[in-house]
Amino acid sequence: MKKIMALVLAATMALSMAACGSKGGKSAKSDDAVAAIKKAGKITMVTNAEFRPFEYKDGNKVIGIDADLAQAVADDLGVKLEITDIAFDSCIPALKAGKADFCMAGMSVTEDRKKNADFTNTYFNASQVILVKKGNTDISKPKDLDGKVVGVQQGTTGDTYCTNEDGKNDISVKEVKRYQKFVDAVSDLIAGRIDAVVLDDYPAKQFLKDNEGKIEKVSDNLTTEEYAAAVPKGSNLAGEINKVIKKLSDSGEMNQIIDKYTSDSAQ
Ligand code: GLN
Repeated sequence: MKKIMALVLAATMALSMAACGSKGGKSAKSDDAVAAIKKAGKITMVTNAEFRPFEYKDGNKVIGIDADLAQAVADDLGVKLEITDIAFDSCIPALKAGKADFCMAGMSVTEDRKKNADFTNTYFNASQVILVKKGNTDISKPKDLDGKVVGVQQGTTGDTYCTNEDGKNDISVKEVKRYQKFVDAVSDLIAGRIDAVVLDDYPAKQFLKDNEGKIEKVSDNLTTEEYAAAVPKGSNLAGEINKVIKKLSDSGEMNQIIDKYTSDSAQ
């Protein structure tokens, strides 16, 4: 009798452990994220749609370079693409929490972010630049940011640069004003509430175009950065995205997508 009980117990334990394994979503998912995506028939991406030309809204739809690249990934896997627009600094936490399969957000690869997510190969080179109010002669080079009030988008590499917590550069600003959206930082710049905005070069070009005669760019760049897609740590989706990046680069489609959103007629 005891023997039978022990057997039943062992069998029950084995069964419940197996059940845990299969419904323990997260581990099963990151073990083979690609299989899980195919099974679900859908791939989910998080972004912050405040970053033209990479991601911005057309009505309710998120469009831009990253949206097109994401669509190519979904097409390659034969699944539907679902994009969710969230705060930029919530993107990596969303991946960590298993809320999305990947993130494309004009996101620069940094050592710090690599601790919390994996990155694909890079697909775009970028840099941080400084925007000032037109005619501002106070700031004509990066060092002139010393003692100034600078607007950034929270959690971006521009934020890290200006905050300069690790003392990696020799800039010492008076105050970093953190915004959820770059567009609000640019409004405050035009209104004279802040001295400068630090942001990525391509979105900066867009703001210059939208606010002609009101703002200008300082000629020196602050950083060199590379954009990549981010995936939850260990996700095999990175390999799939790399294949798509390579395919699009080799075929010239990558440049076509970039041109579509950056050429003069697109701006
Ligand atoms: N490239 C910058 C970063 O990775 C800004 C990205 C963004 O604001 N979408 O921090």
